[in-house]
Amino acid sequence: LMHLTRKLIEIRSMLLSIDQSDALKLPSIVVIGSQSSGKSSVLESIVGHEFLPKGNNMVTRRPIELTLIHTPATNGKGPVEYGEFPGLGMNKVADFADIQRILTDLNKAVPDSEAVSSEPIDLRIYSPNVPDLTLIDLPGYVQISSLDQPETLKEQISNLCEKYIREPNIILAVCAADVDLANSPALRASRKVDPLGLRTIGVITKMDLVPPEQGAGILVGNRYPLHLGYVGVVTKKTKGSKKESSAIISRHAEDDYFNSHREVFHKGSSIMVGTDTLRRRLMEVLESSMASSLHGITNAVQLELEEAAYQFKVQYNDQRITAESYVAETMDALKHKFKESTQQFKKPIIREKLKAMLDDKVMDVLEQLYWLDKRTPELGTLANDPRIKAHEVEPVWRHKLDAASSLLTKSGIGRDSTLLVADGLRALIDSIATGEPFNYHPQAAERLIEFSHAILRDRIGVTSDQVENCIKPYKYDVEIDGREWELGRARAIDLFEKEVVMCETKLKDIRKKVGGGRRLGGLINYLKTLEEKEKERKAKRLESPVADSPNVPEESYRYPPAQLVDARHAVLYGDRLGILKLRLAALKSKRCKAGPGNDTLCPEAFLSVVADKLAYTSAMFINIELLEQFFYQFPREIDSRLLYDLDRKEIVAFARENPSVRRHLDLQERKDKLEEVMKQLNSLSTLRSDTQPVPRRN
Ligand code: GDP
Repeated sequence: LMHLTRKLIEIRSMLLSIDQSDALKLPSIVVIGSQSSGKSSVLESIVGHEFLPKGNNMVTRRPIELTLIHTPATNGKGPVEYGEFPGLGMNKVADFADIQRILTDLNKAVPDSEAVSSEPIDLRIYSPNVPDLTLIDLPGYVQISSLDQPETLKEQISNLCEKYIREPNIILAVCAADVDLANSPALRASRKVDPLGLRTIGVITKMDLVPPEQGAGILVGNRYPLHLGYVGVVTKKTKGSKKESSAIISRHAEDDYFNSHREVFHKGSSIMVGTDTLRRRLMEVLESSMASSLHGITNAVQLELEEAAYQFKVQYNDQRITAESYVAETMDALKHKFKESTQQFKKPIIREKLKAMLDDKVMDVLEQLYWLDKRTPELGTLANDPRIKAHEVEPVWRHKLDAASSLLTKSGIGRDSTLLVADGLRALIDSIATGEPFNYHPQAAERLIEFSHAILRDRIGVTSDQVENCIKPYKYDVEIDGREWELGRARAIDLFEKEVVMCETKLKDIRKKVGGGRRLGGLINYLKTLEEKEKERKAKRLESPVADSPNVPEESYRYPPAQLVDARHAVLYGDRLGILKLRLAALKSKRCKAGPGNDTLCPEAFLSVVADKLAYTSAMFINIELLEQFFYQFPREIDSRLLYDLDRKEIVAFARENPSVRRHLDLQERKDKLEEVMKQLNSLSTLRSDTQPVPRRN
C-alpha cells in the first residue's frame, strides 16, 4: 500500500512538469489557516524539524509545494535526512537551518508591494521519519493588514488559497482550539468549495489552551461536520532537554497533555488526537484520494498522450530531434553556405573587381595630368601627324607619362586592393550572420562576426604589404609587348566611350532641366560675360586698389542661381567631352595602333596596360595571403569558437532560441513525458485493486 502513494507522488510531480492544467492533477493536501493558528507548527511537527520561516509579519509569501519522501533509516553513506530545491538546482541540503534560511530568502524576495506571489517553491524532504506525503503550505489568512501591507492583501491571500483548494485537492483546515470555529477563515473557505465537507480534514491546534472536555467537544465535530474528521494536536514548543537538538521537534508536550487527560481522550473513543494520528490520517486520506483519482487521471493522460502523439505525427512526421543534432546541423549548414559563397571570390572575379578599381584610378590620373592641361590637344595633333617620329616628340610628354605611371603605381594599391577584397568577405559574413537561422541566435551571430573580423584584421596588414612588395617592379619599369598594348588600347577606348556616354547623358539631363538647348546656350553665354566682367574688375583693382566699387553686377537676377550652377556644370561636361573625343580619335589613330613605342602619344593605352598588370599581381597575392588563409581558418574557428565551447545547458539554450525548434522539442518532450507517466500508471493497475475507501471515523 505504501508503494502506491510513493509512485503516485512521483507521477504527480511528473504531471506538474508537463503542465499546470487542472485536468492533469493528482490530489495534494493543501494547508490553510489564519495567521498564528499554529499552521507552521503542525507542518513542522509532521516533518519533525523546524524548517519554516519564522517571524510575526507575513513570513510565508509564496506557496510551498512540500513533497515528503520516506527513506530507509540507514543507507550506509551520506545523510539520511535532507532537503532538495529542484527549482534552484540545490540537492542534499542536510541542515534544516539552511532550508529555513533559503525559504526565508525566497519569501523575502517577493517585493513588499506585491506581498504575495502565486509562484510555488518546490521543496522535497527525504527522511526515514516522514511519511510519503505531498503538502502545500499557503500564506496564512490575515485578520487585519498592517500599514505597510497593500490594502488588497486579504483579498490576494484568499484568491491564492482559493486557487489551491479546488478539486481534487484535500483541504487541511487548521483552527486553534481557543478560537470559535465559527470565526475560522480556513473552515469558511473550505465550506465555499466543499460544502459537504467531503474532502476537508480539520486540525484543531493548541488543545492545551482549552479544558479537555471543551476540546473533545470540538473534535466530535457536531457543529461543522467533516467527512474526514477532526484531529486534535498540541504543537507547542517546549524547551527540549539539552540532549536534543533545538531544531528537532519534541512531542513530549503533546504526549504529556493527552496522557494526563486519558479519561477524555482514551483509545476507545472515536476522537482522533496527536500528531502521529494526524500523520497516519493524512496518509490514508491522500492515498485513498489519489487512488480514486487514478481512473480519471489515467483517462486524461491517455487523451493528452493521443493528442500529443497525433500532433507529433502531423506536424513533424514523427521525426525526433535533439538540441545536439540541431546545433550540429546548423554549424554544418553554416560551413556549407560559406563554402558556396566562396565561389564569389574566385581569382578571375577578384581580378575583374580590382581592375575596375584601378580603371577608376587611371581615369583620375588622366584627368589630373592630361585633361586639365591646356596643351593636351597638341598630343592629339601629334598622334595624327605621320611626319613626326616618336623620338622627336617633346620631352615634356615623356615626363608627363612617367609622372602618370608613378602616380598610378604609388597610389597605395596594396592597401586599397586588400581592403576591397576584405570588405567583400566582411559583407558576406554579415549577410550570413543576419540571415536565417542566425537571426534567432544573436549571441552566436555576434561571435561569428567577431572572430571573422579578427581573422581579417590579422591578415590585412600582411597581405597589403605583400601586394605592395610584389608590384614594386612596376613602379620603375613596365615592359609591354605588342599583344598587351593592343588589349590595353582596346580597353582604354572602351573606357573612354563609356565616359563619353556618361557626359552626354549628364548634358542632356541638364538641358532638359533648364528648359532646352537654347536656354542652356543663353545661360552659358551669360556666364561667360560674367566671367569677362569679373576679369576686368580684377584687372582694374590691380591698377587702383583703393577705388574699389561694390561688385554687384546689375544683371545678376536675369537667371535663377540654381540654373547658373547647372550651366557651370554643363560647361565642365562640354569641355570634358571635347577632350575625350580628341583622345578617342588619337587612340584610334594609326600611330597608337602601331604599338608600345608610341606610349608618350597614347598614355591611356599605356596606363591601361599598367593597371591590368597591377590587378593581376594583386589578385594573385591577395588570393594567397588573404583568401586562402581566411577560407582555411573560418571553418576551424566555427568549430572552436561556436561549437566546442558549448556545454549541454548552452546547447539546449541555443537550440531553443529558434522558435520552430523550440516548439518541436516542447511537443516531443511532452509526448515523451506523457508516455512515461502512462507507463507508470499502467504499472500501478495491479496495486490499484488493493486499495479501499477510507472508512468514516465519526
Ligand atoms: P502560524 O502563524 O499559523 O504558522 O502559527 P505558528 O505555528 O507560528 O504558531 C503561532 C503561535 O502559537 C506560536 O507562538 C506557537 O508557539 C503557538 N503554538 C503553536 N501550537 C501551539 C499549541 O499547541 N499550544 C500552544 N499553547 N501554543 C501553540
